[in-house]
Amino acid sequence: AAKLVQVRDLKMHFPIHAGVLRTRVGEVKAVDGVSFDIYEGETLGLVGESGCGKSTCGRAVLRLYDLTSGSVRIDGTEIGDAGPQRLRRMRRVMQMVFQDPQASLNPRMTVAGIIGEPLVEHMKMSRKDRQERIYQLMDAVGLNRAFANRYPHEFSGGQRQRIGIARALALNPKFIICDEPIAALDVSIQAQVVNLLEDLQEEFGLTYLFISHDLSMVRHIADRVAVMYLGKIAELAPRDAIYAEPLHPYTQALLSAVPEPDPVLHDTQQRTVLKGDVPSPAKPPEGCNFCTRCPRVMDVCHRIDPEYREVAPGRYVACHLYNDAQTAEQTAAAMPA
Ligand code: SF4
Ligand code: MG
Repeated sequence: AAKLVQVRDLKMHFPIHAGVLRTRVGEVKAVDGVSFDIYEGETLGLVGESGCGKSTCGRAVLRLYDLTSGSVRIDGTEIGDAGPQRLRRMRRVMQMVFQDPQASLNPRMTVAGIIGEPLVEHMKMSRKDRQERIYQLMDAVGLNRAFANRYPHEFSGGQRQRIGIARALALNPKFIICDEPIAALDVSIQAQVVNLLEDLQEEFGLTYLFISHDLSMVRHIADRVAVMYLGKIAELAPRDAIYAEPLHPYTQALLSAVPEPDPVLHDTQQRTVLKGDVPSPAKPPEGCNFCTRCPRVMDVCHRIDPEYREVAPGRYVACHLYNDAQTAEQTAAAMPA
């Protein structure tokens, strides 16, 4: 499949100011050199603990921020440095479903108004055509047309997320970033919303970046998975490969903490409890950003930031354990049996 999204060395650094003069005293490296591709029609899962930069990364890819640096190509168009006009044009191609439907829907607008707003902003269409399109979108996400003139507060959380999804679909986008789309919902309806997203992907040929802290959920929905730690991607691999055979020590630790329904599978992996806290992204460690907590840390890790590279077809890792022939033995030892 073709690459719909290409992100290269994306950085989002935010200045920190202090004192009455608001002097710049440093910066938070929320996203610090991230690269990945997303193929047409696939779901790339972006996982990591809260504060790792995954939401910021998603917003930066959609250019909801001005980037510190880096390149983002979507459907052949560079948007990393795009001005308002090109961005406006690209809004039709790329959309976002937000975590909290409560906060992202205007409480004073009706469902029809919310879903139809992008149509008003971006498309020249008659009132009648717009009404018909709104009904189609409500059908597509499983909302009763009779509710078109109701307000968000009259709906449950799951229904509100359906409104958010219908709105995201209004302009017929190719690429949708789902930022923790079910995290704020009752567990009982999370599966329904995930299933809806999967059905819509198939029906409309959508490509997803699915951001989540929930590794079990990502395992269910993603074709490939990227694991983020402290502003960088630690590892990216096809879904089955990363869950069966995580390479990066951080991925190994994360997965060892996931309750495994199959006790036989669980036996093969030791539970790793990471020491210490995640360092502040305003003061990341020298060398590898995981070196303060890594169970396999070596001398070199404190000095040199490991390169993020393809170590096997489709498998990307940033870790000295996998870096060159000299460490080939360590690599072999690090591969789970
Ligand atoms: Fe651990 Fe070193 Fe690999 Fe970083 S580079 S993950 S500290 S082994
Ligand atoms: Mg988040």
